[in-house]
Amino acid sequence: MKRYLIGLAALLGVAASPALAQDYPTKPITMIVPFAAGGPTDIIARIVSEHMSRVLGQQIIVENVAGAGGTTGVTRAAAAAPDGYTIVMGHMGTHGAAPALYPNLKYNPATDFAPVGLAAGTPILIVARKTHPSKDLKEFIDWAKKAGDKANNAFAGVGSVSHSTGILFNSTIGTKPTMIPYTGTGPALNDMVSGQVDYMTDQIVNVVSQIQGGNIKAFAIALPERSPALPDVPTTKELGLDYQVSAWNAIFAPKGTPPAVVAKLSDALDKALDDANTKKRLAELGGVIPDKAGRTPAALQKLVEDEVARWTPILKAAMANEKKYPLKITCANLTGVINGGLARRFLSTWRERRA
Ligand code: ASP
Repeated sequence: MKRYLIGLAALLGVAASPALAQDYPTKPITMIVPFAAGGPTDIIARIVSEHMSRVLGQQIIVENVAGAGGTTGVTRAAAAAPDGYTIVMGHMGTHGAAPALYPNLKYNPATDFAPVGLAAGTPILIVARKTHPSKDLKEFIDWAKKAGDKANNAFAGVGSVSHSTGILFNSTIGTKPTMIPYTGTGPALNDMVSGQVDYMTDQIVNVVSQIQGGNIKAFAIALPERSPALPDVPTTKELGLDYQVSAWNAIFAPKGTPPAVVAKLSDALDKALDDANTKKRLAELGGVIPDKAGRTPAALQKLVEDEVARWTPILKAAMANEKKYPLKITCANLTGVINGGLARRFLSTWRERRA
C-alpha cells in the first residue's frame, strides 16, 4: 500500500514539486512579450531580464507574441505549464484595461496568474510627428478637434495602454480621430518618425530618445510633475488639462506556479531593480523604478485588482457614451467617472483656461 502511495504521488508530481522548485531553474526561461519588438514592453523586458538571467544562472529568452492588444501573448502565458519556464511581461493594458474591452477575454488578470512583481512605472506622453503643424498642446487640441476623423491616432490594438489612454485623451479633449492599430507602439513610433501617423499617447520608455533626437514632438507628459528624463516637456497639469494617467509593466507567471519558483523569480527581479546598470538604463528612458514594497507579488496582485476596478467603469462609460451621446456629453461623463463626479470642474476649468 505504502509503495502504491509513493508511486501515485510521483505520478501526480506531488513529491517532485519541492525538488523542482529547489533546483529551479535548470534550463532557459521564456519571457513572453505580448507586443512587437522595439516597443516599451519589449524594452523593459530586455533590460530587466538581462540581470535576472545573471541572478538565476539561466538565460531568459524574450519571445514576442503580438496581437489583440497584447491579449494573445498573455492568453498563451496563462495556459502555459505552471513550472516557471514560461512567464510574461504584462502591463496596465493586458492586466487592467483589457477586461473592459474584451467580453470574451480568455484570462482573468486577477485570478489566472501568480504575480511576480512590478518592473517599472511608465508615465504617458502625448507625442506627434515632427512635421505636425501645432507648436504646443493648446494648438494641437484645436487642430485635433478641427481635423476630426482626418487625424490619425496610432495605437497598439484594443485593450493596449496606448488604446485606453488614447480613448481617455480623445474623450477628454473632445475629438474622434481615426485609430490606426499596430502590433505594438514600437512599429507605431517608426511610422510616426517617418510622418505617416499624426499622434499617439504612449509609455515614456518608447519615446524618450526620439524626443531627445528631435524626431517627434512631445506636447505634454500626463503627470502632475515633470520627468527627470524629459525636463523640458510640460505636464498636462501645468497646461491645465485634466488628463493624468500613468502605466506600468510587470511580470506574471501562470497560476499554479510553485510559490518557491515565484519567490526565486521575484527575488531575481528585485535584484535586477537594485542593480546600478539596470536602474540607470530604465531611468534614462524615464521608467520609474518601484520601491521595495511596490515590487512584491502581493503588491502586484493588489495593483491588478485596483487597475481592473479603476479602468472598467472608465472604459465602459467611454464606449457606451460614444454610441449614445454627442461628444461633449461623453467628455463630461467620462471625466466625471475618472475623477469621482468632477465633471463640472472639468467643463468649467479646462474650457475657461483655454479661452
Ligand atoms: N506601449 C504599448 C501599448 O500601447 C505596447 C508595447 O508595444 O509595448 O500597450
